Amino acid sequence: MSLVIYDTMSKKKIPFTPINKGVVKLYVCGPTVYNYLHIGNFRGAIFFNLVRNWLERLGNKVSFVYNYTDVDDKIINKAKDEGKLPLEISEFFIKEYEQDFKRLELTQHDFNPKVSDYINEIIKFIQDLVDNGSAYVIEGEVFFEINTFDNYGKLSGKVLEDLEAGQRVEVDERKKNPFDFVLWKPSNIEGAKWSSPWGEGRPGWHIECSAMIQEILGDTIDIHGGGVDLIFPHHENEVCQGEGRTSKTYCNYWMHNNFLNMKDEKMSKSLGNIITGRSFMDKWHPEILKFLMLSSHYRAILNMSDEKIHYSISGLARVYSALRDAEFIRSQVGTEGKVNKKFQELLSSMDKKIETAMNDDFNTVEVIAYLFEVVRSFNSLSLEKKLKDANSGSTADYFICWIKSYGSLMALYQNDPPTFLEELDNILLREKGMTRVEVDQIVEERESARSKKDFQKSDELRDLLLSKGILVFDNLAGRSWEVKK
Ligand code: AMP
Ligand code: ZN
Repeated sequence: MSLVIYDTMSKKKIPFTPINKGVVKLYVCGPTVYNYLHIGNFRGAIFFNLVRNWLERLGNKVSFVYNYTDVDDKIINKAKDEGKLPLEISEFFIKEYEQDFKRLELTQHDFNPKVSDYINEIIKFIQDLVDNGSAYVIEGEVFFEINTFDNYGKLSGKVLEDLEAGQRVEVDERKKNPFDFVLWKPSNIEGAKWSSPWGEGRPGWHIECSAMIQEILGDTIDIHGGGVDLIFPHHENEVCQGEGRTSKTYCNYWMHNNFLNMKDEKMSKSLGNIITGRSFMDKWHPEILKFLMLSSHYRAILNMSDEKIHYSISGLARVYSALRDAEFIRSQVGTEGKVNKKFQELLSSMDKKIETAMNDDFNTVEVIAYLFEVVRSFNSLSLEKKLKDANSGSTADYFICWIKSYGSLMALYQNDPPTFLEELDNILLREKGMTRVEVDQIVEERESARSKKDFQKSDELRDLLLSKGILVFDNLAGRSWEVKK
């Protein structure tokens, strides 16, 4: 099965064929840089990273453009409040975002264009639309005339007449149609004004993406992505602009990730229910954020909860514990032996299943389930037994490489397993208000009770630890306890 993608415009899954064989042009609307991003904003970055990686795994060279909106009302207002220039605000938050992005260890985008660097291209684009009759100028303001565009609504499925009937906002009488949207508007704001054929001003929101797309990637791109909230009007208007200018298809596949919700409401700054990516990563871990995002299908709403976070922790621990054991086995047994044939066959059958799941509109939920299945199979023989088997080191090595290879698609499972598991323990202990030293003390007390054959005390201490979610064991890999995950 080759790759099929759910396309928002055709409202169905369609086979993916790039314009040029082996090359994929991908554009995703990036953040408006006026604040720290919340974890909802990161859903797209994490998901489209996987899209990019899979397209590459399929043999494509991907050009991924992810822009920064650094000219915007919210930035201007913040600058005003803080007595700064708009670009000072945006530059600051771009740097902050880049720090957060780095912690996620995703593949670097090929281009991160900023609107302020593309003003000339935007002006040229608007001029082309004015020249070909798709846009008109009124008092230094330029509007796209949607009546010149045959299929307004073809992306979002909205019907112009319905929109007009439901119109609530006050209509700008100067416009030919209430849904004509602004391409350029006058501005006298220091740091957010540029000279243009229509006077000093700044671009509207939608035009930036179309201009950056056509400048960097060309008239038609393969995939355009973003959150579902961008379908209308942002992407709808992008289609008008792009096709209004070139009369060619603007984009072949439209992909939209759904929202991250908090208690059934979209996480958003205006609702005040946000968790910043940074605070999440400080409290939990970047890996937990990535797992959380990919453990739901990208088109499904993801409802954030403590339960989901703990599910992610146990999901990660399941794989990392197996990787830790596998590394231990490999170090003890070496890799001279033969890989277990049955296990190898299982992994080959999983390769096919994972390929099918990924090619079916990026079904990460299934992929994660298949990885768990492989882990279960790897764990089915005890560590003790494996250590006595001369072939187990090679099988363990095979397992590690296999997991890391699929993990890298999702930017997961690349950490050093013992270190990462210890970090998870620390996170969970912090949640319980306990420290490693406290646990070590109780474990030592228990050890000493056992060595004195005081089994009653030893059992009591074991129960005490268990009641706090600490598992005690005599492990061959030299560990004596861990937090239940
Ligand atoms: P903004 O900074 O508001 O322009 O949003 C940047 C990106 O984050 C856009 O692609 C939005 O669709 C996306 N986004 C905003 N809120 C959420 C959310 N709660 N869940 C998922 N994506 C979101
Ligand atoms: Zn955009």
